[in-house]
Amino acid sequence: MSKKLLLKDAHIEGIRYLETYRKQGGYTAAEKALKMTPDEILEEVKTSGLRGRGGAGFPTGMKWSFLAKPEGVPRHLVVNADESEPGTFKDRYLMEFLPHLLIEGMLISSYCLGSNVSYIYIRGEYSWIPDILEEAIDEAKAAGFLGKNILGTGFDCEIYVQRGGGAYICGEETALLESLEGKRGNPRLKPPFPAVKGLWERPTVVNNVESIAAIVPIIDITGAEYAKIGVGRSTGTKLISACGNINKPGVYEIDMTITVEEFIYSDEYCGGIPNGKKLKACIPGGSSVPIVPANLLLKTVNGEPRYMNYESLADGGFATGTMMGSGGFIVLDEDQCIVEHTMTLARFYHHESCGQCTPCREGTGWMHKILKKIEKGEGKMEDIDLLWDIQRKIEGNTICPLGDAAAWPVAAAIRHFRDEFEWHVKNPELCLTQNYGLANYADPIPVAASN
Ligand code: SF4
Repeated sequence: MSKKLLLKDAHIEGIRYLETYRKQGGYTAAEKALKMTPDEILEEVKTSGLRGRGGAGFPTGMKWSFLAKPEGVPRHLVVNADESEPGTFKDRYLMEFLPHLLIEGMLISSYCLGSNVSYIYIRGEYSWIPDILEEAIDEAKAAGFLGKNILGTGFDCEIYVQRGGGAYICGEETALLESLEGKRGNPRLKPPFPAVKGLWERPTVVNNVESIAAIVPIIDITGAEYAKIGVGRSTGTKLISACGNINKPGVYEIDMTITVEEFIYSDEYCGGIPNGKKLKACIPGGSSVPIVPANLLLKTVNGEPRYMNYESLADGGFATGTMMGSGGFIVLDEDQCIVEHTMTLARFYHHESCGQCTPCREGTGWMHKILKKIEKGEGKMEDIDLLWDIQRKIEGNTICPLGDAAAWPVAAAIRHFRDEFEWHVKNPELCLTQNYGLANYADPIPVAASN
């Protein structure tokens, strides 16, 4: 049984409201933190080893320590709630059911960073959640946890919720800041980084919802105790939103010591694959991270079990590994068509490209067109090489990571499932009516948890 820090009270009726949240010990971490100095809080966050839960996995304490502190210039904390990566919905769960956990985390973080005005930027499609957050903010303010002179400490903090317009690119931190300033959400060239020039050119920390919520248990149990949970540099707990061909889709909190196999097949988590189907592949960290076939998903190339943590998932680099990413865990069974799946993702990234840089603007559309051709049985063998070539020219050559996010799924699909692409080219009459199932693999993919 995994240790729960964030979701331990999620099942309690009424936990969304301050009274119930307080009964479960809510805001005691904030009371503790407000008696500490900002530097002491920063040390706790650094000691905890917390890594950003939005996707990049950058150490949160280190990010906070980069924040510039010029005399007389306001600083800001901005919470990135623009959770738009396909397959990722864990921040939605946190905000919907535990809004006070986020607000308490924001209060502690704002105090540590010296932000008197902090923001939550939330994706437009989460249309019902801003009301939940604003109600919780009002409750916290009425109880003296927000506003002027919080708990008599002299610290002032206001939190505002800003609704996005529904663009995936606004999850990129500088595009988010542009949008928050009322402009089109185009990513900025970096440097300068937000820690130096962020919102309205003021020093700004942008952190994911889960990262900020995790500050509460870190202060509660101390950074040192938090660091003991998990393994290696994957400390603490991680929320995983699981979906696709599994019996129990949902949001799970794991302590990053369990294996991928356990996560997929155990009743505590995904509960296996429906109808006894075999596992074909998985995208463990949101749609932009490399897809991994079952044989490399359950074990590394060295035969070690693959674990649900940052290091183990990445083991072997992109050739055999993948990434923890945002924790959007998408499972594909034997019936799924990799070409169609990759084409769908390519369409998404093309649609969401802001169009500022040529490799992304043109390349994403080009990849989508070619994949569509292959999927319809109208492709040629050289199209597969062309696809490979295009994704290589996008990766690393764009202003923001959306270019990489569009290139990686295509690269990984060709790397691991090239035979399936070739089957589509060679069998144009079959590929509209049949799937390239597991039976076609020369090297059968090991599947069952008991294997
Ligand atoms: Fe826009 Fe794509 Fe360039 Fe990012 S990589 S700035 S989304 S065109």
